[in-house]
Formats: sequence, C-alpha cells, structure tokens
Amino acid sequence: MKILVAVKRVIDYNVKVRVKADCSDVDLANVKMALNPFCEIAVEEAIRLKESGQAQEIVVVSIGSKACQEQLRTALALGADRAIQVEAPDNLAPLSIARILKQVAQEESADLILLGKQSIDADNNQTGQMLAALMDRPQATFASEVQVEGGSLRVTREIDGGLQTLSMQLPAVVTTDLRLNEPRYASLPNIMKAKRKPLEVKTPEELGAEVTNGVELLGVEAPAERQAGIRVSSVEELVDKLRNEAKVLA
Ligand code: AMP
Repeated sequence: MKILVAVKRVIDYNVKVRVKADCSDVDLANVKMALNPFCEIAVEEAIRLKESGQAQEIVVVSIGSKACQEQLRTALALGADRAIQVEAPDNLAPLSIARILKQVAQEESADLILLGKQSIDADNNQTGQMLAALMDRPQATFASEVQVEGGSLRVTREIDGGLQTLSMQLPAVVTTDLRLNEPRYASLPNIMKAKRKPLEVKTPEELGAEVTNGVELLGVEAPAERQAGIRVSSVEELVDKLRNEAKVLA
C-alpha cells in the first residue's frame, strides 16, 4: 500500500497570533512556523502503518511557497520516504488545494490519502472532503482509529456523543482527529538523514491542476481584549457582584 500524506505549513500553535495594523491579514513576519498538528498526526499514522508492514511507501506533499520545504523535511525526519512541494501561492483556497492533491494522488497511484481534519490557521475543515468528492472515492473524516483489512479500511470516527465505525474500499481519503495517535519526535540522526531524502518540486501546471481562487480574504480581527479581573475578599462579595453587577444570578 502506498500512502500520500498532505501536510500544511502553519503558525506554530504556541505562538500568540498578531493581526496586521491594517487588519488585512495575520502578521507572519518573524513568526515561528510549524507542521499543522493534525497533519503531524496523519504523518504519524502513515509511519505506524508502514512499521506494521501494511504500507510500503509514504509520500508527503505540501502546496505553497518554498518555505514549506521546511515542514516537508520535518515529515521526512519523522519517517516519510519522499516529499513533493507543489510551488504555489501560500493560502490557496481549499478547492484549489484539493484539485492539486487529486492530481498528485493520481500521479502517485496512492491507495490511502491522509490529511489533517483541519488546518489550525484558517480552520477550513474542507480539503479532505473536497478531495474525496473530486476523486469520487470513499472518505472518513475525524478518524480516531484506522485499521487496514486487505483492500479495505475500517475507520472509527469521533462524532458528537460517541463513535462511528465505517468500512470502505481503498483507495480512500481519511482525515485525522486529535486522538488518533500521539506523534513522535524526530531524532537528531533522522533529521540529518532527512536532508538526503528525495524532495521534488512541481507546479500546478505540470500536474494539470486548475488553480482559481474563488474566495477573497476581506479582513481579520483580533478577539476583543478581556477586561482585567478583580479580587474579591469574601464569598458574600462574590455572590453580591454576580447578582447585582454581572446579573448572572437571580
Ligand atoms: P483545511 O481544509 O484547510 O482545514 O485543511 C485540512 C487538511 O488539508 C490539512 O490538515 C492538510 O492535510 C490538507 N491541506 C490543506 N492545505 C494544504 C496545503 N497547502 N498543502 C498540503 N496540504 C494541505
């Protein structure tokens, strides 16, 4: 089985996001970037399937400017075999990303395509679903367990108030939820080895993918600042304030 994992470069989740002064976008200047956490889980799952002998090759793909090669190298250090960067503007809309991924998946004859359930920068939660529809292949979103059973997959999904188990024929598209696994750290020797692993650069034109951005970002706003709290001296004072100032108690 060959696994294709789509990985996105995003702001590191530990960074406090700043908005540009003109509110046109998020300020990325000198900000630490990282592998999208759900993509990291997808890479980890692919590695576990390879380690258990159920997958033979893991190809990672990222669509964006040259900077995303850093995240591809991280995925190679974690255990992926090959990487593909599709040179394109950063932050293409999910439909364009899905169109490009479809072409890569077909060119690679991937049996399983793993994606994160969402990118933490734009919170779209769209790409996997669009890709499955464009490829006309089965999909399982929010996976918390993936088992390969011959030519099919058994996927447990996290849904509101419980779990759902699905069976589907490969090739299929799966998006990862937080509890699927706990990603490993890359060891120093593997980081060094990753520098020599193959990384190909392609363009959407070479892949025959149509890139059209039907979505325009009009602006972003930071959340309203929280007012500073106050210290109360007794439970009675707290109850009084909740009742008479905040008016949350009857
Ligand atoms: P989204 O639909 O933007 O929330 O992203 C869901 C998943 O699609 C991500 O976790 C990635 O697996 C994949 N994806 C989104 N954007 C890209 C990109 N630029 N390059 C590669 N994969 C991407």
